[in-house]
Amino acid sequence: MMAPAASTPLAESLAEVRQRLADALSAAGRPATDARLLAVSKTKPASLIRDAWHLGQREFGENYVQEALNKRAELADLDEIVWHFIGPLQSNKTREVAEHFAWVHSVDREKIARRLNDQRPEALPPLEICLQVNISAEPSKSGASLAELPALAEAVLAMPRLRLRGLMAIPAPSEGSDAQREPFARLREALEALQARFPEAPLDTLSMGMTGDLEAAVQEGATLVRVGTAIFGKRHSPR
Ligand SMILES: *Cc1c(COP(=O)(O)O)cnc(C)c1O
Repeated sequence: MMAPAASTPLAESLAEVRQRLADALSAAGRPATDARLLAVSKTKPASLIRDAWHLGQREFGENYVQEALNKRAELADLDEIVWHFIGPLQSNKTREVAEHFAWVHSVDREKIARRLNDQRPEALPPLEICLQVNISAEPSKSGASLAELPALAEAVLAMPRLRLRGLMAIPAPSEGSDAQREPFARLREALEALQARFPEAPLDTLSMGMTGDLEAAVQEGATLVRVGTAIFGKRHSPR
């Protein structure tokens, strides 16, 4: 199969985002391999994911279970593709997520973790987990509070079919690099506290930074940035 020509809009936007990430890492004095790009493909068609795959992108983030499963089925022929679930997760959807994703970034309570652990098929490796933190303490938003984190992390670390990799957050939108960096710094400090408390745990992931604030996140130590709009364009269909 032919790769799309280098001049397609997707090729250009993906190259721009890769350059932004490289520049941000370099500005932070970090190695170029220190953070990777998760392409957030929610509401976008499978054909665009396929094009991005041909451009070398391998990790994709989805928010809605049924939509993701449909696309995943359509793209089953793509080798090495890695699916991350990054949306809010209800109990009645945990089985599909446990069976069809490699990563879940949005675990924010023990009950959901327990179900994912119990439902992860034996034939698959453990599910890679990030705990979502409500870092801006917004009343209506998902995510565990910073105070809840140690107990939640301890519970997840005891679950054999889950591998606790780190923390994820979506801060309240803000303008300017100082304001954007502040919540990311708090997330990094929370990860450092967990690393100190659980030195044996594979806690190597800070999932933070999106289209509008990836530079600030990389300054504060993001190891995985989740970018949708800057790669695939604006999302039209409101859900
Ligand atoms: C949609 C979404 C993103 C991508 O946001 P953009 O601003 O489009 O880059 C990242 N993370 C999560 C959890 C999302 O839901």
